[in-house]
Amino acid sequence: MSNIPLVDLAAAHAEVAEEVEAGFKRIIGGTAFIGGAEVASFEEEYAAFTGVPHCVGVANGTDAIELALRAVGAGPGSEVILPANTFIATAEAVARAGARPVLVDCDPDTYLIDVDAALAAVTPATRAIVPVHLYGQLAPVERIRARLGGSDVAIVEDAAQSQGATRFGRGAGADGIAATSFYPGKNLGAYGDAGAVVAADAELAKAVRTIANHGGLAKYTHDVVGVNSRLDALQAVVLRAKLTRLASWNEARRAAAARYHALLEGLDVVRPTTLEGNEHVWHIYCVRVPRREEVLAKLHAAGVGAAIHYPVPVHRTGAFAGLGLGKGSFPHAERIAPELLSLPIYPQITPAQQERVVRELAAALG
Ligand SMILES: *Cc1c(COP(=O)(O)O)cnc(C)c1O
Repeated sequence: MSNIPLVDLAAAHAEVAEEVEAGFKRIIGGTAFIGGAEVASFEEEYAAFTGVPHCVGVANGTDAIELALRAVGAGPGSEVILPANTFIATAEAVARAGARPVLVDCDPDTYLIDVDAALAAVTPATRAIVPVHLYGQLAPVERIRARLGGSDVAIVEDAAQSQGATRFGRGAGADGIAATSFYPGKNLGAYGDAGAVVAADAELAKAVRTIANHGGLAKYTHDVVGVNSRLDALQAVVLRAKLTRLASWNEARRAAAARYHALLEGLDVVRPTTLEGNEHVWHIYCVRVPRREEVLAKLHAAGVGAAIHYPVPVHRTGAFAGLGLGKGSFPHAERIAPELLSLPIYPQITPAQQERVVRELAAALG
């Protein structure tokens, strides 16, 4: 029996292969490799898809978060609040922007940022809160926004895992600014590194584009100390081809998640919870299991590409040990970390593959 991968990038490529090959030929023929018409078209199309007016293509998702943070004024001397249960990149982006990361715990049911904890962590130095739309569903950003009232704390959404997800009909960034990643395994994945920032406000988008392009919009104007973080035309070809399929791919992920939900009934696993008002896009189907290491090893031995998102909360990594947040700082994040288990999910996964995953999981649980 063939293995079931965590993510099947070959199956996705098969659907877009012809368009990608034709597009690569076009770009190579025209030799406009960075930016240009292909990137501009993708930016317009992605803005339209997300329902956010402005999109700036950048080099990767970590840069996208850093650029969005810098655009809202986060930097040395300021604090940025983010959840301890996230991919390390969220915290790296804060540190690279020069701000101090202020970690908070996650909600025990959705594993998303704990809104009350985030608001309680606000100080006069807070410049931004970064809700992470983990696993493919949006965090309750509107609750944060409502309680921030007229304060000048910005909300910078980490939408790396939530392309196409909505909350009460609105996507990430629709009321502010959001950063996303097109790492190959994301719901919308490039063939290398790529990312984007979407913003409701033209000036904010312009600030991102300026910083990302060596601090200036015209050649040899450098108004701020910027970085080089731009989207390649070859990646834009891939992203444009895949974007036309993203809505149906997300629909297929929802169907796959519903199948897992039914198949897992009665097993000793905690199934994922979806917040009311959310249209989930199931970047990751994350359950909690007892004896996780043993279960994971058995799944791997059976050819099932399960994974962990994420094994170590940010405050327990060596990189952020300097924050001085010892064991017990965030009980929810610490309790779930040794139990989390991500099952294979991708648009092309078949019911038979899912049945086999659940069969192997049941066997592994004993
Ligand atoms: C993938 C990811 C990122 C970083 O994106 P890269 O493109 O790999 O730099 C940031 N945050 C989250 C939650 C992610 O999943």
